[in-house]
Amino acid sequence: MTPPTTDLLLSGGDVLLHEGQWRVARADVEVREGRIWAVRGSGGRADGEQRPLTVRDCSGCLVMPGLIQAHVHLCQTLFRGLADDLPLEAWLARRIWPLESAHTDESVYWSAMLGAAELLLGGTTAILDMETVRHTGAAFAALERIGIRATAGKCLMDAHPEGAPLDLAESTDGALAEAQQLAERWHGAANGRLRYCFAPRFAPACSGPLLRAASDLAERFGAQLHTHAAETIVERQTVARSTGLGEIAYLESVGITGPRAVLAHCVWVDAEEIARLAAQQTNLVHCPSSNLKLGSGIARVPEMLEAGCGVALGADGAPCNNRLDVFAEMRLAALIQKPRLGAEALPAGEVLEVATLGGADALGLGDELGSIAVGKRADLVVLDLRGPHLVPASGDVVSHLVYAAQPSDVRDVFVDGRPVVLGGELLTASLDEIVREAERRATELRGRVGMG
Ligand SMILES: [Zn+2]
Repeated sequence: MTPPTTDLLLSGGDVLLHEGQWRVARADVEVREGRIWAVRGSGGRADGEQRPLTVRDCSGCLVMPGLIQAHVHLCQTLFRGLADDLPLEAWLARRIWPLESAHTDESVYWSAMLGAAELLLGGTTAILDMETVRHTGAAFAALERIGIRATAGKCLMDAHPEGAPLDLAESTDGALAEAQQLAERWHGAANGRLRYCFAPRFAPACSGPLLRAASDLAERFGAQLHTHAAETIVERQTVARSTGLGEIAYLESVGITGPRAVLAHCVWVDAEEIARLAAQQTNLVHCPSSNLKLGSGIARVPEMLEAGCGVALGADGAPCNNRLDVFAEMRLAALIQKPRLGAEALPAGEVLEVATLGGADALGLGDELGSIAVGKRADLVVLDLRGPHLVPASGDVVSHLVYAAQPSDVRDVFVDGRPVVLGGELLTASLDEIVREAERRATELRGRVGMG
């Protein structure tokens, strides 16, 4: 059988390479069977013995690795603008949990399509996603159709923090049984583009046995563990009160630790916990917009990187951001450290590593994603450098990416070498249909919770 024709030559662009540090070279990127086959100096010819390539002219553009967001909630995209100006605990209890409870298969499907469309059009090629408690199969169906690389999981909750709706929390065994069925169906689907993660919401909403069993299942399936940790001071105090341990020590005691574990936020961790997370090789995900908007605090990312922690980046969900714009997250990640530590803190090159290589490690795909290197999967973005806010393009392109670029600069997006966005147009689904259906499902959903 002939493999799908994703063979491609991205010619004449500036190519962003990572060899210890970022470097830009004028080169052609050759893609075969979904992987990066060669990076050649411009003017080099593709191997004539091979099948013909589709040639895409990239002059005036930057060919760069797809950006990775290692903490998003696509199920919340329909909640955009419905939960502003609240701290985390009220945001969850008064808005997010009632809205998640009111989801149907259809609303979860279109919420995922809407979020994934925004992500792909804005240059994000891979995500780690936490869905809600129910309807996760519908989210996977959307992810399969739209063509983004995604590791997603059903949200696990079996205990009720004060104010949480009883109908979201499940029995421990029931939650785990459904998670296992979803992993059997989706982990490795779509030629490995889709993967499953076990996703306990956060320690206050989960029993110890649920957390331990999620860790065991992740090990068994070779899957990631995706949760929130140390997001607010209230969360930290709640965990200390109920377990007698610091939050990171508690998570370690139930197996949420090590390279499989991905902890979103970690705003409220001390120096000893940062050292412990680094030694464990636990992945951390920085979500600067979300942390600022919910008033949670500022994660000590430079200290985490200095200690050797793996750090990735994420927009979190639409109701706490309210965009899923990785360029905004990169810019903010750099800016918010500077008043605290000085203007030298977290330079652009480090932020870009967090949004590429750090994300790849958080997905457990460090050998497959995160940079343009021969043999890696061809998850690539072609960025148009000709917008006035990116001139002079002869300057520092890494600086442009972090401080100046925006989603509308994204021209083409490839996942596994397959074009999903060309010339700023989504190819895998109709954007008009996504917007229309998302609007309709959001109106119905608000009606069901009396926020009409
Ligand atoms: Zn989150």
